[in-house]
Amino acid sequence: MGERRRFEGPSDLHLHSLRSDGTEPPAQVMTAAHRHGIRTAALTDHDTTSGWAEAADAAVSLGMTFVPGMELSTRFRWRSVHLLAYLFDPDHAGLRAEMERIRTSRLTRARTMADRIGHDYDLSWDDIVAHTTDGATVGRPHIADALVAKGLVADRTEAFAHILSPQGDYYVALYAPDPVTAVDLVVAAGGVPIIAHPAGRAGLLPRALIDEMLDHGLAGFELDHRENLEAGRRTLRRIARERDLITTGSSDYHGLGKPNLPGENTTYDEMVQRIISAGTGSSPVYP
Ligand code: AMP
Ligand code: ZN
Ligand code: FE
Ligand code: FE
Repeated sequence: MGERRRFEGPSDLHLHSLRSDGTEPPAQVMTAAHRHGIRTAALTDHDTTSGWAEAADAAVSLGMTFVPGMELSTRFRWRSVHLLAYLFDPDHAGLRAEMERIRTSRLTRARTMADRIGHDYDLSWDDIVAHTTDGATVGRPHIADALVAKGLVADRTEAFAHILSPQGDYYVALYAPDPVTAVDLVVAAGGVPIIAHPAGRAGLLPRALIDEMLDHGLAGFELDHRENLEAGRRTLRRIARERDLITTGSSDYHGLGKPNLPGENTTYDEMVQRIISAGTGSSPVYP
C-alpha cells in the first residue's frame, strides 16, 4: 500500500449522477461539486457503482479527492430507508447480488407503475425509457421526468406530490433488504454504512432498529441534510455523542432533478478522516 495521503475539505459525500436518478454524467457531477468549492466528493448513486471510474478520473483531474460510495435501498416495514455506504469492495459477491436484485426489482416496478399510470394518463413505458440512461438504476424520478416532458406535471416535485406518491393509486413498492441485512452486507464488503437523511418527514426510525443496526456495525448518521427535521437531528446528535459515531453533512445533489446544490451541507474533516480510516473495501482516489 502506498503512503498515507491527505484529502482536503470542504467535503460533500452524497451526490447523484444519471447512473441513477441524477441528471448529469458522473464527470459533470464532479465538475459541479468543484465549481461549488468542494475538494473531496463521493458519488453515491442508488444501488450501483457504475459511475465510480468516470467520477474518479474527473475528480482527480480537477485536483479533488474522490471517495467511492453508494446509496443502498433498504426497507423497514412500509418505509424506505436509504443507507449510504462508503469505501466498500464493489466486487463483493453478497453485496453485488443484493444490488442486482434491487435494480431488477426497480425495473419491474417502474414498468408496473407505468402501466398503471398509462390507464389514466398519456404515458407509455417507452416515454420513461427515453428519460433513462442505459444501465441506470431506474426510479420514480425517471417516471417524473417523462411526465414533465409530456406536460402532465410541471416538475419532479409535482410528480412526487401526486402521481408518484406512495399514497396514490399508481405506487408500487420495490424489493429492498431490511436495514440490518443491508448493514451486514456493507460491513462484509469492507464498507462504512451511514443512514442517509435519517430525520426526514417520515420521522426517526425506532430506537430499537437504530440500536440493532449499530450492533451490526452501523457507523453513523447523515445529520446535516436539508430534509432532516430539527427535533430528529437533536436526538441523533445525542446518540452520536453517546456512542462516538460518525456524523456527516451533505447536499444529496441530483443535478436539475432537485434544488439541492453541492456544498449546501458539508462533512467535517475529522469525520471524513474517520470514514477513510474505517473503509477497507476500496480506497479514496487522490489527485
Ligand atoms: P424510488 O427510489 O424510485 O422510490 O424514488 C425515490 C427517489 O426519488 C429518492 O431517492 C429521491 O432521489 C427522489 N425523490 C423523492 N422525492 C422527490 C421529490 N419531491 N422531487 C425530486 N426527487 C425526489
Ligand atoms: Zn436519488
Ligand atoms: Fe436518499
Ligand atoms: Fe440521495
